[in-house]
Amino acid sequence: MKEAKGIIFDIKRFAVHDGPGIRTTVFFKGCPLKCWWCANPEGQNPDPEEILSLFNQDSEGNCTKEIIGREVVAKEVMNEVSKDRVFYEESEGGITFSGGEPLLQPVFLSSLLSLCKEEGFHTALDTSGYAPKDIFEEIIDNVDLFLYDLKLLNEEEHIKYTGVSLDLILANLRYLCKKKKEIIIRIPIVPSITDSSENINQIGSFVSKLNCISRVDILPFNKMGEAKYRRLEKPYMLNNITPPSEGRMNEIKKQLEAFDLNVKIGG
Ligand code: SF4
Repeated sequence: MKEAKGIIFDIKRFAVHDGPGIRTTVFFKGCPLKCWWCANPEGQNPDPEEILSLFNQDSEGNCTKEIIGREVVAKEVMNEVSKDRVFYEESEGGITFSGGEPLLQPVFLSSLLSLCKEEGFHTALDTSGYAPKDIFEEIIDNVDLFLYDLKLLNEEEHIKYTGVSLDLILANLRYLCKKKKEIIIRIPIVPSITDSSENINQIGSFVSKLNCISRVDILPFNKMGEAKYRRLEKPYMLNNITPPSEGRMNEIKKQLEAFDLNVKIGG
């Protein structure tokens, strides 16, 4: 049987914000969304692509280009993630699949999830939720924890700031709830885009009615992705936006807690 192949752009060991315990996060390339605040723009294009080098310059002092993203077979990824088995066991950690959107490479993801389960690893999937339901059906049994993004509950704004409709995302979330999966909702808090009281109230109300969410993580926008846009020679849409203050994050936390939700600032 041919081994599943996929395209990734990074494997990060000792991750502590992508699910419980110490984890290794595998970053898949390709995402159907184009969120204005995306901190991993190198994860959007499904193919390997050129990026300006951080370290290398040509004789005229211009940055040279390198390729980000590479094709790998599942076994190669498993060899890498298996190195930290002892840390996963001691910290109740495991493996997280992130991106980009891992569900855009369903065969590769499914193969990795099965291999992780054979090894006894806890698995988490960091997803936008934007994928056909049959792909969720295919992988659901081998995912222990879903890290599920909710960004905006107004359809027009969702399309404006992410490029896609909200319906499929909400339908898939309801499906995961029906299947009694463990789900943490993640809300990026981007000033003047996602942080309005109205949006937070809409999300709080929607999520609390689902009665299946273990926690809501609110993730303050940061500018760490900005340099990557320059290196990819792509426009950065949020030049004039500054990260939310600690005070504003605490207000949003309280606003969501009023819906009887367990809320955490940060991942
Ligand atoms: S869903 Fe995530 S990876 Fe995709 S564009 Fe949005 S922030 Fe970036």
